[in-house]
Amino acid sequence: GYHKVLEENRKLYNQVQDLKGNIRVYCRVRPFLPRQSSSMSTVGHIDDGNIMIITPSKYGKGHKSFSFNKVFGPFATQEEVFSDTQPLIRSVLDGYNVCIFAYGQTGAGKTYTMSGPKELTEESFGVNYRALNDLFHISNQRKETFCYEIAVQMIEIYNEQVRDLLTNDGPQKRYPFVKILLLLFFIPLLVNTLDIHNSSQKGLAVPNANLVPVTSTTEVIELMNIGQKNRAVSATAMNDRSSRSHSCLTIHVQGRDLASGAVLRGCMHLVDLAGSERVNKSEAKGDRLKEAQHINKSLSALGDVISALAQKSSHIPYRNSKLTQLLQDSLGGQAKTLMFVHISPEADAISETLSTLKFAERVASVELGAAQVNKESGEVKELRQQVASLKAALAKKE
Ligand code: ADP
Ligand code: MG
Repeated sequence: GYHKVLEENRKLYNQVQDLKGNIRVYCRVRPFLPRQSSSMSTVGHIDDGNIMIITPSKYGKGHKSFSFNKVFGPFATQEEVFSDTQPLIRSVLDGYNVCIFAYGQTGAGKTYTMSGPKELTEESFGVNYRALNDLFHISNQRKETFCYEIAVQMIEIYNEQVRDLLTNDGPQKRYPFVKILLLLFFIPLLVNTLDIHNSSQKGLAVPNANLVPVTSTTEVIELMNIGQKNRAVSATAMNDRSSRSHSCLTIHVQGRDLASGAVLRGCMHLVDLAGSERVNKSEAKGDRLKEAQHINKSLSALGDVISALAQKSSHIPYRNSKLTQLLQDSLGGQAKTLMFVHISPEADAISETLSTLKFAERVASVELGAAQVNKESGEVKELRQQVASLKAALAKKE
């Protein structure tokens, strides 16, 4: 009886979350960095769901307003940002798939939101550490009824190629001499790329990337350090590659119901996207141009997929990029999506800020979303009441 009530309660909670819409867009404004504190901000008024941008004369002097599910100003803490993300994370333990993206131009705070600053403190932990921490915590709370296993993968997509970031033994390190020989003749063979399989066994989109079981935040931090190092290795060859590749931390959760033996699987992708800035036309040649084209292609493919989902379109164009192929099973259907769009407050970022916000609004299809919420708010209310009465019933039993 007791467990049934708990179970029922959890189902209703997820239904309430479902009715709120499966795609959410949060906007986060980075504060000025210490050495730029005297500059003027392009960000005017901010409230819970709206942000006003002050545009200079070049862009039609005046104000432009944008609406999102949530707007975090420059003083929002990592904890505050996470607290609005938490419900999504819990639903992974109930077998849902979740995608969380960080979008924005380089330097706008994507990595800060997802991982935190370079010098990590407990307070500055980003969404990915907090998410795992939460998963450990809740799975422990449920240990009487469920047995959970949590494992992570970390991959990078660069120029439409998928690479494992959790590997210690790439061919680069083991056979430096062979590598040089190969480099001369078979450059394409050297690239240690992986294939994407959709609907593969165990729900792994990249079955050949290392899948590492984790049980504590300490282990997670170690793994992330390995991932960061592997990303840095390639960064020296092509300066700051990290801003021109997508990195994806995937958390796989498998839970076995101890009473029935039924197994449920959920997974969560935490994606730090490549910088969305457009490169200067005069500057973009050769490799730089190729990178820029790949980034444009994959970010617009992602935008197309999410807006097709938001509009409940019958055709969802997953096949247009590696990124959307990778995330196919976790975008749409029962899956939940959250995009953090990041903007910088500086005046010289205004053009990127406006195009970032326009992209985000397109993704959110805000008008559609708002209409739906209104239509369904009665149901949400009803479900909330049911949750409340179940909670009361539970309290009586205890
Ligand atoms: P991106 O990953 O989008 O290129 P970063 O996350 O690296 O950007 O942020 C750029 C710089 O700004 C870093 O030094 C980072 O620590 C700092 N920063 C970003 N967001 C915040 C924030 N919300 N609060 C304080 N510092 C931030
Ligand atoms: Mg970054």
